[in-house]
Amino acid sequence: MSLVSMRQILDEASKDGYGVGAFNVNNMEQIQAIMEAAKETKSPVIIQASRGARSYTNDRFLYHLMMAATELYPEIPVALHQDHGNSPETCKSAIDMGFTSVMIDGSLEADGKTPASFEYNVRVTREVVEMAHERGVTVEGELGCLGGIEDGHGAGVDAMAHLTNPDQAVEFVKSTGVDALAVAIGTSHGAYKFSRKPDSAILAMDRIIEIHKRLPKTYLVMHGSSSVPKELQDIINAYGGQLEPTWGVPIEEIQLGIQHGVRKINVDTDSRLAITGVIRKYLTEHPEGFDPRSYLKPAREAMKKVIIERMRSFAQAGHASDYDPIPLSVMAQRYSNGEL
Ligand SMILES: [Zn+2]
Repeated sequence: MSLVSMRQILDEASKDGYGVGAFNVNNMEQIQAIMEAAKETKSPVIIQASRGARSYTNDRFLYHLMMAATELYPEIPVALHQDHGNSPETCKSAIDMGFTSVMIDGSLEADGKTPASFEYNVRVTREVVEMAHERGVTVEGELGCLGGIEDGHGAGVDAMAHLTNPDQAVEFVKSTGVDALAVAIGTSHGAYKFSRKPDSAILAMDRIIEIHKRLPKTYLVMHGSSSVPKELQDIINAYGGQLEPTWGVPIEEIQLGIQHGVRKINVDTDSRLAITGVIRKYLTEHPEGFDPRSYLKPAREAMKKVIIERMRSFAQAGHASDYDPIPLSVMAQRYSNGEL
């Protein structure tokens, strides 16, 4: 199966009321872990690459690894998504390379750090929507700012200081035509999301419920939504790591979001923790070892295990063969005739 548009994956998820994990990748092992998890659970999936991942893989390696994934797993619908595009130019280069979905994060200026004005956000997002939809490519926008910084991207603001305003969300979607909207509800990028188990004072799930009520047809996206399980932190710390105690987004909160219009859930930190824990354990227990395969193989397995758990929790499992892929050219026609 060739890569499919993220819009089709989310349309199908919306019909059946499930969420789809969007997992970040930087190398072959991570792509393999996700595709194996998708195969085992029969899940459609979104694979996403940040600007940092694109520069790490020099783009061409990423592209050809993704082509290998579609060749080897023809039964899995998979979208390739640009995570946090900082400018229309970044999104254009992703589309030119074959990404089937892009995020333009106009909540920050092109430096990826400075919170931007609403007008700036609407202008750059609208520009990307026009360019992408013409080619059948999906667009995710963001309103409000998340906490934390990852891959050099983020305002580093207090996560509760820039929550998405529901009235502005309605205006934003109407003026831009985005397919999906990332909302700020108190989550942060990276491992340090919450310094205690989150409750409604620090994780504003009511915003999602409110925004979904006003925008029932817009697919909502939860960023920074790794659950940061204690057992993964413990493995790292048991083998010489020094992570501070931290809490992620509980699975049951994500499931509540899915009941209220969340269709895409971004997960990166959990994969990183799983991989790092296994590598630390192996190298501590085998100081004589030096074959990278001896730790990369179990690292890949550990990531696969986490992804399988997420795919089951988000309920995307079992839906891989529900539909045939719609070519991007047909998606482009549907956008232009107003069907989408
Ligand atoms: Zn994000």
